Amino acid sequence: MTLGAALREATHLLERGGIEPARLTAEVLLAHAVGCTRAYLYAHPERELGRIEWIHFGRYLHERLQGKPTQYITGRQEFYGREFRVTPAVLIPRPETEHVVEAALGASRPPGPVVDVGTGSGAIAVTLALEMNRAVVATELSWAALEVARENARRLGAPVHFIQCDLVAALADASASLVVSNPPYVPEPEIGSLQREVRDWEPRLAFSGGAAGLDCYARLIREAERVLRPGGWLVVELGAGQAEAVRQMLGCGWRQVRFLEDLAGHLRVAVARRERTS
Ligand code: GLN
Repeated sequence: MTLGAALREATHLLERGGIEPARLTAEVLLAHAVGCTRAYLYAHPERELGRIEWIHFGRYLHERLQGKPTQYITGRQEFYGREFRVTPAVLIPRPETEHVVEAALGASRPPGPVVDVGTGSGAIAVTLALEMNRAVVATELSWAALEVARENARRLGAPVHFIQCDLVAALADASASLVVSNPPYVPEPEIGSLQREVRDWEPRLAFSGGAAGLDCYARLIREAERVLRPGGWLVVELGAGQAEAVRQMLGCGWRQVRFLEDLAGHLRVAVARRERTS
């Protein structure tokens, strides 16, 4: 079978299995099986698929049809222009989270560590370390996720110091200049109706936010009040419709509170500055 024919057959198979977008998914999986770029598939449609390549491609198609996200099959996801390794131990980085990075980069900070809370794949911490050209601290509860994050920092040459703890439990009072996080925020009643790719494959610890999806924010804001220096910043990702509740949680200890929209028009990021006097 040629690359061109394999692509056509796989596209039909994925279409019939209800996988969208079928053609792009087929291309990504075939390129992964062959170890080439997608452009190569177009340049060499007559090239015969090797036996091992064919076996790999078949397995990837089978996995995708079972609901496994493409990124867990290829083990990769691009984020902020860099390639991150992902496994089912970590949430797949989303484009929305790039707004968190933008907001964090825009915050002018007092001295002190930048901390990414619940780093997962390390996407935020690694990106900030490389974009700011400075060391970043990243915390994570899951050992399995920490391994993935460490590997990403090593591969991308990012100076990130990893700590296994809940939120910022291991950090000293009034030490940090910036606390950034994409916490779990999906309300529990909505988990059942998530896409099966998320519901059945991504780590629940990374997205399940309690009854209203807000459990983590209350704790995170309290803890950020403790570890941030006066004038330091908190930058957190929000679920759709959560801005007002989070605004109310940010009590009198915070100023310059604002919310940034994502490309879909949802208030996706909350930014707040720690009061100077307290
Ligand atoms: N963006 C993810 C989703 O909606 C959830 C991420 C999170 O809870 N932080 O599938």
